[in-house]
Amino acid sequence: METKTTKADFKTFISRVSYWASKLGVTNYEFYFVHRDLTDTDYDGSVATVQMNYLSKSAIFTLNAQWTESCNSKSLDRTAYHEVLHLLLYHLTYLASCRYGVTRNSLDEAEHSIIRSLENAQFGIGFNKLN
Ligand SMILES: [Zn+2]
Repeated sequence: METKTTKADFKTFISRVSYWASKLGVTNYEFYFVHRDLTDTDYDGSVATVQMNYLSKSAIFTLNAQWTESCNSKSLDRTAYHEVLHLLLYHLTYLASCRYGVTRNSLDEAEHSIIRSLENAQFGIGFNKLN
């Protein structure tokens, strides 16, 4: 089932990203927000992304206009939390990626393992049940 995210969803996403960034102390970046369809991009299938620039300390949060799952305030909150955690871990993963022998995939997997644990601690393990 595909769902289109609305302007109101985008406002909620911005609000929740701002909330989590403030709560987690991730405040040394300049934030930009984009609401667009990520189909036919490298992020096809993602509900949102964050693209960061380590040197300029900027972060672009994009909410996908096209979701493959239902969208509600709880899923938007969890999505915002997920993307802010990527930003929280970015310095660490950036430095680790500079080390010889560490692949981008292994770092991405380790980063998502930490993020899933923190998501489940915040929102509960059963949140992602299908049906
Ligand atoms: Zn992620």
